[in-house]
Amino acid sequence: MTAAALDPQNPPDLEALSAEEVIAWAHEHFGDQVALACSFQQEESVLVDILVRDRPDARAFALDTGLLFAETYATWKTFEDRFGIAVETAVGPTLEEQAAAHGDELWKRDPGACCGLRKVEPLQRTLSGLDAWITGVRRDQAPTRAGARKFEWDERNGLWKFNPLADWSEQDVWARINERDLPYHPLHDQGYSSIGCIPCTQPGAGREGRWQGNDKTECGLHG
Ligand code: SF4
Repeated sequence: MTAAALDPQNPPDLEALSAEEVIAWAHEHFGDQVALACSFQQEESVLVDILVRDRPDARAFALDTGLLFAETYATWKTFEDRFGIAVETAVGPTLEEQAAAHGDELWKRDPGACCGLRKVEPLQRTLSGLDAWITGVRRDQAPTRAGARKFEWDERNGLWKFNPLADWSEQDVWARINERDLPYHPLHDQGYSSIGCIPCTQPGAGREGRWQGNDKTECGLHG
């Protein structure tokens, strides 16, 4: 079946496939029109490793909000050196442009609007040039992610979405990192389970360290 023949109402069931098999299927059907959204967290250590072993010229992109930890930029470089991949960059307005239009430190007053400008809009621009994307979403990360399928139609963004690690636990991820001696984000060793922008990330298990003191639990990328 070609990608063009896939039916969003009735996608093939890839739930029985391993992460390696899902990624091979993604490359087979979408070629260079599928790319991984890479935030340099533990799931991406695993996925980039699988991705480049399946296809050395596999594509990945990162959302550079301009507010990432120095350790995130260092991990970016480490990934590129270790895996031989050039991670493409998606960016929103500069901090100066955002401050001029919306005032300083918008993330404190309206994190939803800030994520919209710095994450969602650049993501949507990147996805508009793709037929499918791959994410590190796992079902046990958050209630908003519990229904994720390994392959599904992404109605919000109008393209196909692969979640090859949907049925992995956090322990599964760390077992793979250790088994293959993969590079990983150093802040994971300092109590940060989920890592985003500096102003909105605290140490914590799962996603509890994100947007503390606010009802927000997702950037708007996955939920
Ligand atoms: S995580 Fe915080 S700083 Fe980053 S884009 Fe969202 S609101 Fe803005």
